[in-house]
Amino acid sequence: MKYDLSPLSAKKLNVIEIDTTFTFTDEDALSNSMVCTVNPVNVKGTIKSYGNGFKLDISYESTWQYQCGRCLEPVDYVIKGEIIRSIVKDGNDGDDDYVVVESTVIDLYDVIYNDIVLNLPSQVMCDEECKGLCPNCGKNLNTGACECSVDNVDPRLAKLKNLFTHD
Ligand SMILES: [Zn+2]
Ligand SMILES: [Zn+2]
Repeated sequence: MKYDLSPLSAKKLNVIEIDTTFTFTDEDALSNSMVCTVNPVNVKGTIKSYGNGFKLDISYESTWQYQCGRCLEPVDYVIKGEIIRSIVKDGNDGDDDYVVVESTVIDLYDVIYNDIVLNLPSQVMCDEECKGLCPNCGKNLNTGACECSVDNVDPRLAKLKNLFTHD
């Protein structure tokens, strides 16, 4: 994911076209999320000269899989974003609008990686109506009711039931 910016500086090129596939190798940072399948990310866009520096304008897209936050079944989730930033040699490192490069080469790995991780939802649901798993037997309740739901009486209701039997 490295691009040499010197042809732009030397004005041999007006634009660097980006059309590539970005593959995650750093799986550790994703281990905290509910992402279960990480697929390669398609990246398209340009780097152009802009003022004293350059302008990065790319979009990315992929379909990953999450575990449903309720029933744990795999759910497709579209990862999508657009990154428009100024590329500068000197700048405030903490400023999100800038990508600071120390040499004539820019590595887009971190730029895209950070944008994806920042925008990942903490939870994805297979359906808003997902019934989840039975906390008792673990059955996926979307596929039908389990045995335990039949005798499962709310303890508060059970007390009421006792009151009535005393009468
Ligand atoms: Zn679900
Ligand atoms: Zn059950």
